[in-house]
Amino acid sequence: MEDRQFRNAMGKFATGVNVIATEVDGEVYGMTANAFMSVSLDPKLIVISIGNHAKMLERIRQSGRFSVNVLSCEQQEESMIFAGQKQVEDKFEFERLGDTPVVENALCQLSCEVYNEHTEGDHVLFIGKVNDLVLEEGDPLIFNCGKYRRLEALEEAASK
Ligand code: FAD
Ligand code: NAD
Repeated sequence: MEDRQFRNAMGKFATGVNVIATEVDGEVYGMTANAFMSVSLDPKLIVISIGNHAKMLERIRQSGRFSVNVLSCEQQEESMIFAGQKQVEDKFEFERLGDTPVVENALCQLSCEVYNEHTEGDHVLFIGKVNDLVLEEGDPLIFNCGKYRRLEALEEAASK
């Protein structure tokens, strides 16, 4: 099976878009990720999946913690910045949730410590224990079939 065919298949599954952030030696780094799932209520666990070529992999291993920031439909630019699709001159300004860097105005900020990791194929699954969270009102940014989408536009199209 071709990689493209597999990616096209996976792209049929619409997701939100997250920025994963972590801090190593006083430097904060972000990475766009849509591979994310809730895992357990007791304890509160989530999972993210990081490709083995991503710099974020060793950064999370070094720091032992990370945040998951669920982007709003106003934050496509942040998604593009942290996927390397848009270059910016200035360092992105993160805010803090306790000790953890988080993205301002994200719909949800989760502060996590690494609970476990599993290497599976060419990705590493990090299980995160959620220690704190902040919620905001708003609509999510959607990723589907390799494109960013907005709920509002989909609802408008459906009402015509
Ligand atoms: P880098 O290449 O160092 O960082 C990524 C980009 O963020 C760079 O352009 C960098 O300049 C910028 N950046 C980082 N920190 C800062 C900062 N403090 N200030 C300003 N800019 C900064 N990959 C996965 O492994 N798993 C996924 O689930 C996943 N989902 C994705 C979903 C979508 C919708 C998209 C578009 C991409 C996804 N990717 C995923 C791919 C991943 O986002 C890219 O491969 C990313 O470039 C890998 O980043 P890196 O960790 O290697 O770090
Ligand atoms: P795309 O058509 O490549 O993505 C569609 C879907 O395929 C994604 O939502 C994801 O579920 C899956 N996918 C894509 N690349 C993957 C990978 N390397 N490993 C596992 N699953 C993958 O969308 P696009 O706009 O071409 O993506 C932009 C870039 O972001 C590409 O380089 C892509 O590889 C990367 N990306 C990586 C992941 C991931 O590693 N889990 C997820 C999404 C996008």
